[in-house]
Amino acid sequence: MSSRHLVATNAKFCIGCQLCVLASSRVLRESLSLTDGFITVSSKGREGFDISIDRAERSDFEEIVKICPRRCFELTPYER
Ligand code: SF4
Repeated sequence: MSSRHLVATNAKFCIGCQLCVLASSRVLRESLSLTDGFITVSSKGREGFDISIDRAERSDFEEIVKICPRRCFELTPYER
């Protein structure tokens, strides 16, 4: 079975706006929260930001790709 999963292919362009974090909580829980989603974004100081995606196998969410102003995400084919 093939599906797609969310990958932060362009994390180097991240500005830390947290929109993807809020969108991931809306997708999972239908609420806006910086702590209840499946994406976390943390600062690495001058080296930019780390983007961590939990439950990647369930993350075929075009909404996350579209909401990022820096196009940090892609949906990548995933074979199970
Ligand atoms: S929406 Fe994009 S730019 Fe904003 S924190 Fe998430 S990955 Fe970074």
